[in-house]
Amino acid sequence: MHQIKVLDNGYVALVDSMGGDRAVIEGARRCYMSEPQGESADSKLIRHLIIKDHGTPFEHAYFRFDVKCPIFVARQWIRHRIGTYNEMSLRYCLAKRDFYTPEGLSGEALLRYKKSINDAFDAYESMVSSGIKREQARGVLPLSIYTLYYWTVNARSLMNFLKQRLDKSAQPEIREYAKALLQIFRETMPVTAKAFEEKIMPKE
Ligand SMILES: Cc1cc2nc3c(=O)[nH]c(=O)nc-3n(C[C@H](O)[C@H](O)[C@H](O)COP(=O)(O)OP(=O)(O)OC[C@H]3O[C@@H](n4cnc5c(N)ncnc54)[C@H](O)[C@@H]3O)c2cc1C
Repeated sequence: MHQIKVLDNGYVALVDSMGGDRAVIEGARRCYMSEPQGESADSKLIRHLIIKDHGTPFEHAYFRFDVKCPIFVARQWIRHRIGTYNEMSLRYCLAKRDFYTPEGLSGEALLRYKKSINDAFDAYESMVSSGIKREQARGVLPLSIYTLYYWTVNARSLMNFLKQRLDKSAQPEIREYAKALLQIFRETMPVTAKAFEEKIMPKE
């Protein structure tokens, strides 16, 4: 499994993929009942589909990612509705003391940040050991804790995600995840990713 480390303790991993560039070409060529016509013609076709925003052929290619990210990143991520999510549940699982610490924090601010999170975990763990349900005790936990989910998404929706979340207006933490996804996208669908980067991807 190809896993890319993101932030201090998160990652993105490609678990599975289906179709790739070939599925896009086959989907598009079905309109004309024509066959794949060689690398150059197929690349040209994919660029044409991207430029004209002819999106449905890209829906034939799928990715399944394993994601570990802070809850505040997941909140932004799951706003992307065209995709399938299964997330670990803190109703059933015990939260681990596994949280994100931003690189920019230092000195007094860093101490306060870590102390408040550790205090929250102390409260959580003591409530759980005293018999309070996990689903209620979790209410004291902070947004910085890591969560895990599978995300299945087609290439059209992935490009929409990347367009929005690679943009400099997006929060730096989710941009880091988008960069990791882009790397996997390039490796899995090189022709589509190239056209996307040339024609759609936000410029720095
Ligand atoms: C920098 C940034 C800041 C943001 N800030 C906020 C914020 O402050 N508050 C906030 O609430 N959200 C915020 N968002 C979230 C944003 O509004 C979108 O919900 C999110 O980015 C998902 O985009 P999407 O709808 O294109 O993706 P998806 O949900 O994956 O949808 C993909 C596409 O499918 C189509 N689609 C999906 N559902 C529908 C529908 N019901 N009707 C019609 N077409 C549909 C649309 O064409 C859509 O672009 C922010 C996003 C970014 C990138």
